[in-house]
Amino acid sequence: MMKEGIVVKAYGGHYYVFTDGATSDCHLRGRFRREKEAVLVGDRVFWRPVGPDRGVIEEISPRRTVLWRPPVANVNRVLIIFAVKEPAPSTFLLDRLLIQAEHAGVEPAICLNKVDLGAEGVREMVEAYGRAGYTVLCTSATEGSGLDDLRALLQRGITVLAGPSGVGKSSLLNALIPGLNLKTGEVSRKVGRGRHTTRHVELLSLPGGGLVADTPGFSTLYLPDMKREELGEYYPELAARRGDCRFSLCLHFQEPDCAVKQAVLAGEIPSFRYENYLQLLQEVMEQERRY
Ligand code: GDP
Ligand code: ZN
Repeated sequence: MMKEGIVVKAYGGHYYVFTDGATSDCHLRGRFRREKEAVLVGDRVFWRPVGPDRGVIEEISPRRTVLWRPPVANVNRVLIIFAVKEPAPSTFLLDRLLIQAEHAGVEPAICLNKVDLGAEGVREMVEAYGRAGYTVLCTSATEGSGLDDLRALLQRGITVLAGPSGVGKSSLLNALIPGLNLKTGEVSRKVGRGRHTTRHVELLSLPGGGLVADTPGFSTLYLPDMKREELGEYYPELAARRGDCRFSLCLHFQEPDCAVKQAVLAGEIPSFRYENYLQLLQEVMEQERRY
């Protein structure tokens, strides 16, 4: 009888398949072995048991999405984590990560961690991104606040964490998964003994449901390949005004009668979001020139 599960770890020809709360050590049917990347972590597979906790993968379901850094198939969401301070959040990096997630076809959500430290300007940030339509959670890994909301968000499907080092990604995973005990603290990672340099990506199962990659995503800061007119589509609050600009392909930059610029001046669009957009627009235009 065939079972259906999700590959949570792949190593040395072994594929660990998570099915109804248990993990089985499977190998691949011969015809798949010739293909490179025939099976990725995150793939939904059909497998046949051949002994206690062992099996053979017979079928691989078509992938909905693939992220390559780290390689994970069928990711449902990217949880972009920043700290309210230590280190201070960068909305420019946050916007870039939001664009990368949406370009990859994966829903982004924002988590502001270390709220126990308190910080000026956090409310403004939560409001700006919340009004733009993003899910924004506030957590403290050390005090446990906001973790119920986080569990609820991660309960379904596959999540990859993203964000700079030191914001508390490992601490949050440790708080969500009793007994996990990932190393925390920036320093150990800087000297190259961190978990990201040595291990393959693995999906961890959360006690209340959901799978989370143990390796952060989007470690490189490239912007996806796009045309200059497309960038505004990744800013929901800009895209909502676009119909009122004089030009239908308005870049909201130097054009006259731009509804976006008017909304920024009127305080209806946060100016920091618009400034980030302009800076990314320059990058996209430079990128275009290079091809
Ligand atoms: P990562 O690099 O994103 O995985 O961050 P870590 O989980 O290694 O955390 C970096 C540092 O921040 C560690 O010293 C943690 O103890 C600390 N930290 C993590 N979460 C919190 C939090 O919610 N509040 C405070 N005050 N410190 C935290
Ligand atoms: Zn415009």
